[in-house]
Amino acid sequence: MTTKQRQNLLAYLGYYSGNIDGIYGQQTKAAVERFQEAFGGIVVDGLAGDETDKALRHAVAYGMPEAVADKMSATAYADAEQYLQPDGCYHIPRGVDVKLSKNLWAHEIHCQGTGCCKESIISKQMVEMFQLIRDDYGEPIQIAQAGGSGYRCSIHNSEVGGAYASLHMTGNALDLHCRDKDKLLAVVNRHITDGEIGVYSWGIHVGVWNRGFVNRFTYG
Ligand SMILES: [Zn+2]
Ligand SMILES: [Zn+2]
Repeated sequence: MTTKQRQNLLAYLGYYSGNIDGIYGQQTKAAVERFQEAFGGIVVDGLAGDETDKALRHAVAYGMPEAVADKMSATAYADAEQYLQPDGCYHIPRGVDVKLSKNLWAHEIHCQGTGCCKESIISKQMVEMFQLIRDDYGEPIQIAQAGGSGYRCSIHNSEVGGAYASLHMTGNALDLHCRDKDKLLAVVNRHITDGEIGVYSWGIHVGVWNRGFVNRFTYG
């Protein structure tokens, strides 16, 4: 397998958010390590050998091993709790990557602006809603890896032309990219009963709030 192919598979599985450039740099190595750790039963060394390539193909074809997924859900994201503040949001320093739930990492929601903010914010309510949607959808959902937004600070929100009161600025919105948008929309409609559902050409924007209604919109 070439490095580019590995980067593609790692991105598809949600472990890599860097450029698909064929360069086996620090980001790729870290992604390989995260994958090896999560897959289980293989050496965690950040070096993609035959064993890791085989595991990558297996994970893409059949998903991650269930036993490992369960183990991860029980322990691996306890680390995130230290970032949970009294406002009900995780405040995560920009360089930090922790697992927020079974299928959500901090690197997937960090503000994508440059030199704009020191920490990213996401509400526990949004994290829990994401996991409900992800479990029901049953396939990988990408956010920042696919060019979507999780948290956007006010500076970056202006840069990308985000809405004046965008829920991305309070950590209450996520842009979901997926393989099957219609299938995901059906799932989102089941779970978002108090929040936002925005349908775009690239995927679906979801937001949570406590206002007692759903704001629906369609672009493109
Ligand atoms: Zn920012
Ligand atoms: Zn959005």
